[in-house]
Amino acid sequence: MKQLLILSGKGGTGKTTIASAFIRLADAKAYADCDVDAPNLHLITGQNSDPIKTDYYGLPKAEINSKSCIECDQCRQGCRFDAISAEKIYKVDPLACEGCGVCKVVCPVDAISLKPAVAGELMMYTNEEKVFSTAQLKMGSGTSGKLVAEVKKQLKSAAVDVELAIIDGSPGIGCPVIASLSGADMVLIVAEPSVSGISDMERIIKTAAKFGTKTAVCVNKFDTNLDNTDKIEVFCEKEGLHFVGKIPFDSEAVKAINNGRTITDINCSSGAAVKEVYNKTMELFNKVVG
Ligand code: SF4
Ligand code: SF4
Repeated sequence: MKQLLILSGKGGTGKTTIASAFIRLADAKAYADCDVDAPNLHLITGQNSDPIKTDYYGLPKAEINSKSCIECDQCRQGCRFDAISAEKIYKVDPLACEGCGVCKVVCPVDAISLKPAVAGELMMYTNEEKVFSTAQLKMGSGTSGKLVAEVKKQLKSAAVDVELAIIDGSPGIGCPVIASLSGADMVLIVAEPSVSGISDMERIIKTAAKFGTKTAVCVNKFDTNLDNTDKIEVFCEKEGLHFVGKIPFDSEAVKAINNGRTITDINCSSGAAVKEVYNKTMELFNKVVG
């Protein structure tokens, strides 16, 4: 399975809007939402069946057996996450506990155990011979990168014979993005023509370069700042990156998304522009993956 990953250096650039349009245009048989903190691709791509849900276990959480505890305070002193309090009894705050196990090691009476903890939910939709893998991280849980890896693993195992997977990555440059990048054959970066948007774009380009992943760039809402759009084009030329097009700001697109439709489902200027971006991206993708 070849993977086309769609990323942005920050939230709000329209990454998921473009990913959903690509999924529709490619009639993708396998796709995934790796934005496990705030997944919403399922809202736009419209799923007509319930997903298969699986609990995702992240890091374990410490638990103190108050009957065995002799209140020596070593666990509280050893916990660098301030997850242990000593009021009436010694107890662990599960939201603060990172499951490192230090408290268990230092406890002289073996009063602490590490218990598996559900950190999120994996979801898999299968309909019309299509596989869609996604997940939702539980509030306060870490290990989002590991959950992204699980989303991709689930997709691969359910769609073994599918040639192309389109993956909506998570915003930023943190662990979930690194996990999204692992195994991707090409990345399309959706940039926004603002000062912070350019800076974020440069950071995500550097991140993708560390993986040696072929990178293309498009600009969304390009007409909100033509000077900055020019700067992005110049930057891409200088860095030898493929610039695959510009998509205008479009109030019709906003309405389509709010109604749970992709921008290629309606007749609008952004929909026409995204088709051009799609064609150029896929032409490049086919060259890259051979
Ligand atoms: S497992 Fe680590 S983070 Fe959790 S309470 Fe123990 S020392 Fe603190
Ligand atoms: S290290 Fe063990 S005995 Fe000491 S306070 Fe913590 S739980 Fe109690």
